[in-house]
Amino acid sequence: MSSPQTHEFQAEVKQVLDIVIHSLYTDREIFVRELVSNAADALEKMRLTQLTEKEIFDSNLDLDIQITTDETAGTITIADHGIGMTRDELVENLGTIAHSGSKGFAAALKEAGKAKEAQLIGQFGVGFYSAFMVADEVKVYTHSWRPDAEHLCWTSDGATGYTIEEAPGQRRGVRIVLKLKEDAKEFAQKHRIEGILKRYSNFVGFPILLNGERLNTVEAIWLKSKDEVTDEQYNEFYKFTSHAFDTPAYRLHFQADAPLVINALLFLPDTNMEAFGMGQTEPGVALYCKKVLIDAQPPKLLPEWMRFVRGVIDSEDLPLNISRESMQDSALVRKLGSVVSKRLLKFLDKEAQDDATKYQAFYTKFSRFFKEGVATDFDNREAIAKLLRFESSMTAKGEVVSLAEYVGRMKEGQDKIYYQVAPSRTAIEEGPYVDAFKSKGYEVLYLFETIDEYVVSSLREFDGKTLIAVNSDQIDLGDDATTEGESLSDDQITALGSWMKEKLGDAVESVRASKRLGNSPALVLTPDGEMTAQMRQMMRAMSKEDELPPTKVIVEVNPRHPIIRQLNELRDKDADSAALISEQVFDNALLSAGLLDHPERMIRRTQQIMENLLSKSLS
Ligand code: ADP
Repeated sequence: MSSPQTHEFQAEVKQVLDIVIHSLYTDREIFVRELVSNAADALEKMRLTQLTEKEIFDSNLDLDIQITTDETAGTITIADHGIGMTRDELVENLGTIAHSGSKGFAAALKEAGKAKEAQLIGQFGVGFYSAFMVADEVKVYTHSWRPDAEHLCWTSDGATGYTIEEAPGQRRGVRIVLKLKEDAKEFAQKHRIEGILKRYSNFVGFPILLNGERLNTVEAIWLKSKDEVTDEQYNEFYKFTSHAFDTPAYRLHFQADAPLVINALLFLPDTNMEAFGMGQTEPGVALYCKKVLIDAQPPKLLPEWMRFVRGVIDSEDLPLNISRESMQDSALVRKLGSVVSKRLLKFLDKEAQDDATKYQAFYTKFSRFFKEGVATDFDNREAIAKLLRFESSMTAKGEVVSLAEYVGRMKEGQDKIYYQVAPSRTAIEEGPYVDAFKSKGYEVLYLFETIDEYVVSSLREFDGKTLIAVNSDQIDLGDDATTEGESLSDDQITALGSWMKEKLGDAVESVRASKRLGNSPALVLTPDGEMTAQMRQMMRAMSKEDELPPTKVIVEVNPRHPIIRQLNELRDKDADSAALISEQVFDNALLSAGLLDHPERMIRRTQQIMENLLSKSLS
């Protein structure tokens, strides 16, 4: 027999272990749940492997979880006859953080300060490594299901590294022996472990034996009626099956008979894991047929954007022998996903109306998914659109309105939904566009994210009303209320317009009089088909090129504004200064529209204007 091989933990593992071992985290019993859930996962994988593989090591073993406490030795052992691990898998799975569970923890650690470390364990869980909260030595005995694998024992004190040596006589699966720390000896007591296991053992799909006695009845709580299940049981079920540490924000438990027989139990989490920089969440709604698991993470059951949803869908209409491969193209499964996703959207819409504050707190965290949904989920587009929320010219800062509310309070004669995309509320309210709409009594939605533009352009309309950007040239607001004051005549505007267009060059399609301007001398409008400010931003981010062809714009000038009126006068007297000013007016308008590509030119020009002004004032 060869001698033990010594390995070092990957740096991230050391960091995680250091915190796990030294933190004063109080909820140490969590290790039981983590190890039992790993065992259940390994058994589930074994069940599926048996369906496809012919040659399996130790093929006659029961698929169960055996937990043994030994008070005299001060140990607890958790064993399963799951898929087990090969030597390489031991190194990969227990020596590095490439796997899901602890990844979020490690990622969040990077962002959080020292003080938060202990709290973070509570939010994420650290999977297998939680064993080191209670044990000063952990041994993992294993034999993989692969017939040519070795009998192995992995040993570590959780400090710097681990050893792997041969351990003849291992059965298939994993047996983890925890040598409990002095202050954790309570976990070697049968009744202590029994108390912990009781809360969720019935959700484990395999028998659990504690010191040889069967502890759980495998129970499908989604098949029960709602009044038979307590909030606590629902939450424990969510936490156990989703490997979650939060309390779900929403829960939907329903039975349906038509068009399909469905029992579904869905949870919407409270924490958005994607927001922690963990990459895309894996879909987490399991598919069952009459209590038998078909796929724990079916990728195409619900629409992709609903990947944050957790829970179970059980339908007795599915053929029991449906394979995971054929499931993905099954029309029945598509139908099932469609019925359930529609039901979920309806449920959320109602919840949002019943308790808007709660919904907004949830929406703030998960809005990205809904926006993705509008852009990608054609079938549910309108229903998802109902769930969107935006600030607007009629809300206070931080408050939001739904599209339905917007439509409900549209002014008589208003037939479109107006919006502006800009980085902030201030940018919109200080800009030249929104005033004209406000003075007409038209509400303007404020869209602060670049992807919002894709959302509105995919949606195009809501409740039969077109969504349109305030800077579109397709909007005619009619005569503005502010028609008082001296104004340039139509002829003067035409003449000034063609002079300006000549000075401003190719980026300008035309210059015309505006009816919508209040206090600004000019604004630019983006004709249909031209690149908007947000598209330009995306293009730049993708191509890393700074030189994009300019967006061709329409310039609208305010014939009543003193700058425009005097500019018209100046162009006969001092054409050079007039050109400077018209360029500056144009750049200001581009800046407000987010379309200014060359701010440095503007700096040079304002300096020139200041010099002119100074020398004139001093002469
Ligand atoms: P997670 O379970 O979230 O991936 P863990 O740290 O709990 O993270 O486990 C790491 C990996 O070790 C698992 O993904 C799995 O591949 C492997 N593993 C853990 N426990 C077992 C087990 N009882 N049987 C087989 N493999 C296991």
